[in-house]
This record gives sequence, structure tokens and C-alpha cells, in this order.
Amino acid sequence: MKRILVTGGSGFLGSHLCRKLLQEGHEVLCVDNFFTGRRQNLHDLLDKKNFELLRHDITFPLYVEVDEIYNLACPASPIHYQFDPVQTTKTSVVGAINMLGLAKRLKVKILQASTSEVYGDPSIHPQTEGYWGNVNPIGPRACYDEGKRCAETLFFDYYRQHRLDIKVIRIFNTYGPNMQPNDGRVVTNFILQALKNKPITIFGDGSQTRSFCYVDDLIEGIYRMMQTPKGTTGPVNLGNPTEFTMLELAQKIIELTGSHSELVFHPLPQDDPKQRQPDITQAKSLLDWTPTVSLEEGLGKTIRYFERMIIDEF
Ligand code: NAD
Ligand code: UDP
Repeated sequence: MKRILVTGGSGFLGSHLCRKLLQEGHEVLCVDNFFTGRRQNLHDLLDKKNFELLRHDITFPLYVEVDEIYNLACPASPIHYQFDPVQTTKTSVVGAINMLGLAKRLKVKILQASTSEVYGDPSIHPQTEGYWGNVNPIGPRACYDEGKRCAETLFFDYYRQHRLDIKVIRIFNTYGPNMQPNDGRVVTNFILQALKNKPITIFGDGSQTRSFCYVDDLIEGIYRMMQTPKGTTGPVNLGNPTEFTMLELAQKIIELTGSHSELVFHPLPQDDPKQRQPDITQAKSLLDWTPTVSLEEGLGKTIRYFERMIIDEF
């Protein structure tokens, strides 16, 4: 049994990861400042003897004793990371320095949840880990994109300079239960709009593409990455390569919910990537990992989660 630190553990992905680590028989220390995370996401874990929840902001040093660190703390949806952009960069950069310092003192492995946003609005497609990206360093998404890029730099400098056992994964769009209803991300927006028969807000003409991975698949990939031997640093792309346009996503959600919603078109936000699809060759060979949950199945589970949330509101 290991004692494992998960930063950002009360957020969407973090809460699923905490659950997985407990199921694998480990002790979990979840650290979160509750900026976008919620205790409700952990409701079934709070009274477990192997689970501990600590309110803490990782931009401040943390002194704990653990055997492994998963660094997930950082708001991930554009409206949340743009709400306080300076804090977003601090979380990625100062937070990474604090967590790397902790890993160095304890001589333990540390995994960084990086993102497909390091590729920016990509000019090669699908995106391979060797692509250096196309990021606007002064735009509204830069606090997140450049913060995450700098965090990757720090991880690799700690690896080269201090021989730290690092793991870097680049997560592509992921969805599922425990996403926040007000996070403004496309899956939550479309599902809630469809369930309430409200207009579905397509940004731009809806021809931009994304590739969505169901959360259970992603968590399995993160876990496998942590089990790789020292020296397997990544970065490794994790995501589902099935790509579709936002118009296709809207139509699929209308179909699955039986909604009467109509489509309305809003301006495309600045620097919104036109296309995104992971090349997962590395994840397949290094981790023997490939997503298994289809879009229909994953959306079905997510729709049922939000249906339940709407019922509970009344
Ligand atoms: P989320 O917003 O649900 O979770 C982030 C968590 O971090 C929240 O619980 C939040 O309260 C916490 N947090 C934020 N700043 C903090 C700080 N300074 N100190 C302590 N805790 C802090 O987002 P998510 O979707 O679960 O994303 C988790 C990680 O995965 C993030 O690092 C994100 O960049 C990365 N990621 C997610 C996706 C995705 O599609 N969900 C895609 C790419 C990368
Ligand atoms: N989007 C949309 N309608 C919405 C919310 C988002 O058309 O109500 C689009 C957005 O412009 C982007 C895509 O959906 O092209 C994915 O957006 P999201 O914020 O979920 O993630 P990201 O842009 O970070 O991939």
C-alpha cells in the first residue's frame, strides 16, 4: 500500500483518480483549494479510513510525507482559467515548483497533468508529442497554455538537473460525471441545454473539431503511466482519437436526449483551436492503452448524471 498525494483531487478528473487509487488499495491524500473542485465529488470517499482531504493552495509550499504525487491542480475550463488568469499561471508554475520540490525532498515519482493545449491551434494533424505547438503567448488562453508549457519545462529540468522520476501526460478533451454544470465546456453546455430544451450554443459555425475521451478510459491511462519504469518520462498523449465537429456533437446530444432544442450560433472565442485529435501511438506502445468507451456510451452515462442533478435541484 502506498500513500499517494493527488492535487486537485476534488475536481472532475481528480475525484475519479482518488476513487481509482483507493480501489487499487492505496491511501490517498487529496489536496485542493476548492476553486473549481467540490466536496460532493468525493461524497462516497469522505468517511473512508484510507482517504484524507486537505484544503490547501499549491501555490504555497506543502509539507507532507507521501510515496507518489499526481499533480492535477489547475482549473481546466476556459471560463474558469480565464476568471483569474494570474492565479492560473501561478498554479501551473509556482504550484509545479512546490510539488517538484516536495517530490525532490521525498525522492518520489511525480506525474504532471499537462494538456493538448500545449499544441495551441495546431498546424499539424493529428498531434504527435514531437510537435512543439502553435500557442499565442499573449492571448486570453495563454495563462493556461503557457503555464502548462512552463510546468512541462520545470518537470524536465528537475529530471535532467535532479534525476527526479517524472511522468508527463498531455490530456485531450475528457468528459463524464463530476464535471461542473457551470464550467462552460462544450459537453456540459450542450447536455444541460438539451435536457432543458434550451437553445444549443454553437460557437463559430461549429466546424471546429475536438476528440473526446470518456473519463474512465483516461483515468486508466493516467494510472498506467504512473506504473512505468523510471526514465519513461513522456510526454505521452492521452485521449480518444475519434474526432468530430461541434455541430456533429450537438446533433448527437439532441438525438440521445430526445431534445427539442434548436441550434443558435455565437461568435467563436479568440484563439479557439480549429482542430484537435491526439496521435496515441506512444500511449498504445508504452502503456498498452487505448480508449474503450464509445461516444454514445460515454455521453449516455454523462447525460444520466446531469439528469439526476437536475432532478435533485427540485
Ligand atoms: P477541474 O477544474 O475540475 O479540477 C481542477 C482542481 O484543481 C479543482 O478541484 C480545483 O479546485 C483545484 N485547484 C485549482 N487551483 C488550485 C490550487 N492553486 N491549489 C489547489 N487546488 C487547486 O479540472 P479537471 O478537468 O479535473 O482537470 C484536472 C487537470 O487535468 C488539470 O490540471 C487540467 O489542466 C488537466 N486537463 C484536463 C482536461 C479535461 O478535459 N478535463 C484536459 C486537459 C488537461
Ligand atoms: N463550444 C461551443 N459551444 C459552447 C461551448 C463551447 O461551440 O457552448 C466550442 C468551443 O468554441 C470549442 C469547443 O466547443 O471550439 C470545445 O470547447 P471547450 O471549452 O469544451 O474546450 P476547449 O476549447 O478547451 O477544447
